[in-house]
Amino acid sequence: MNDESREPFKRLFFALDCAPAQRKAIAQWRGALQLRSGRPVPAENFHLTLKFLGSIDNARIADICEAAASVRTSGARLTVVLDRLDVWRRAGALVLAPEQAPPALLRLVYDLEQALLPFGLEDAPREFRPHLTLARDFRAPLPEAVTAPEFFLRADRFILFESHKGRYRALAEWPLGTA
Ligand code: ATP
Ligand code: MG
Repeated sequence: MNDESREPFKRLFFALDCAPAQRKAIAQWRGALQLRSGRPVPAENFHLTLKFLGSIDNARIADICEAAASVRTSGARLTVVLDRLDVWRRAGALVLAPEQAPPALLRLVYDLEQALLPFGLEDAPREFRPHLTLARDFRAPLPEAVTAPEFFLRADRFILFESHKGRYRALAEWPLGTA
């Protein structure tokens, strides 16, 4: 029996992923910041969380997938412009965020939250603040970027990830569109 079949729960979250070339570009840009604090997130883990679910019983995952599949998307690809470097002090995170969150992204998150309501996953949902984490345990002033960030995260799908021992595994995905 492998680990997976023994574990009754999985740590899950919905997210947009990042294309490999873009991960590389973002990691390179981060490299130029010459960070002296924090743990850099491995480039392969770059993502934008839509909804964190936490620990979920394996038996519920099929229903969660069904709920996600019921989310009506606009049929268009989503573009999020990551153009702001920020330090989230309380979370100890260095993040890239959009100066302006696109309405389609907010809509997607809202619809996803609505679809997940029957599962009663949380008491007090947190405000959604789109971001891509560059480093954790970051306790330093905002680094100065030589070139201002401007990464166009283009998503044609959203993904249910399992988080396990610092690695993410895509369990299922749903198309957003190609236009
Ligand atoms: P690690 O915790 O092992 O350092 P990680 O933070 O990347 O790695 P997870 O904690 O499983 O892995 O988190 C997966 C995603 O969910 C990340 O985007 C993380 O920021 C987000 N997340 C984790 N915990 C919460 C939470 N309590 N509320 C909202 N989002 C969360
Ligand atoms: Mg974490």
